Amino acid sequence: MTPAGRFAPSPSGELHVGNLRTAALAWLFAKSSARDFLLRVEDLDRARSGAEAEQLRDLQAIGVSWDAAVVRQTERAALYDEAISRLTADGRTYECFCTRREIQEAPSAPHAPQGAYPGTCRRLSHAEREIRRATRPASIRLRSDVAEWAVEDQLHGKYLGVVDDFVLRRNDGVTAYNLAVVVDDAAQGIDQVVRGDDLLSSTPRQAYLATLLGLPVPEYAHVPLVVNADGARLAKRDGAVTLGDLAAVGIPAERVRNLILGSLGLPAGTLRDALPEFDPTRLPTEPWVWITPRG
Ligand code: GLU
Repeated sequence: MTPAGRFAPSPSGELHVGNLRTAALAWLFAKSSARDFLLRVEDLDRARSGAEAEQLRDLQAIGVSWDAAVVRQTERAALYDEAISRLTADGRTYECFCTRREIQEAPSAPHAPQGAYPGTCRRLSHAEREIRRATRPASIRLRSDVAEWAVEDQLHGKYLGVVDDFVLRRNDGVTAYNLAVVVDDAAQGIDQVVRGDDLLSSTPRQAYLATLLGLPVPEYAHVPLVVNADGARLAKRDGAVTLGDLAAVGIPAERVRNLILGSLGLPAGTLRDALPEFDPTRLPTEPWVWITPRG
C-alpha cells in the first residue's frame, strides 16, 4: 500500500473556507511528501442527504484530487466490529450505562482531568451490570490503563493529552469517531493525518488506541483554524463562507483557492503549481482571519 494522507469530512453540510483550507493543506502535505491522497466520508453521524456530493464537488473545484475511490464509514461496520471484538477479547472494554447527566454529576476520580469519564461503570459487579442492562442499552468504553498519552505533532511539537475510558460504541449502536478514525487510517495505509487543530486534544486517545490495537501511529499535523473578524471559529452564520455563497456574490472558486494559497504564503495558481513552494516548517501558526472579500 502506498503511504497516504487524507481528508475526512463529516457530510453534515457545505464545507466553508476553513474546511477547504484544511483540505488544501492536507493535499499539499501529502503530495509534497510523495504520498497518495485519500478522501474518506465520515458519515456515521450527522450526515445530511446531498451534503457528500456538494463537498466532493467543492473540493474538486479548488483542485483537491484523490487517488482512490471515496470510502464511506457507513460501509465499514465489519472492520469496526472486529476491532471492538479484539479489544473485548483482551479484556479492554466494558459496558457503560451512564447518562450524560450522571457523568456530569458524578464526583470525579482523584487526579482525573476535567471532563474525563469518572469510571463509574468500570467497577460494576456482575449483578449490578445485570440490573442496569434491563434499564437501558449500554455503550462500550475502552478500559484504559493510562491517564495521559503523548503524541508528536509537526506544528505543535510534543503534545501530552488526556486519555480516559472513552466511548468506542455509543449506546445507539453507532461506532464512535475515535475508534472509526483509528481503524480506518490504518486500514487505508494513512500514515499522515493533517486536520484542524480543534482535534488535537482527541489525538492522544487515538494514538493510544492505535497502540493497543497494534496499529502504526500516523504522523500528525494539526493546522490552525480559520476564524471570523471576532476571532471565533468560522461558521455558516459568518456570511458568505461556502463556495456556493461566494459564487453568488461574484467570487469564483479559483479566487477562493488563491485566497487560501495566499493565506499560506503560497503563490496564486493551482495547488499543484504551489507544491514546489510548500514548506510545512514555514506555515503560519496563527488562525487565518476570514473577511469576505468584495466580488
Ligand atoms: N470527520 C471529522 C470532522 O469533519 C474529521 C476527522 C479527522 O480528520 O480525523 O471534523
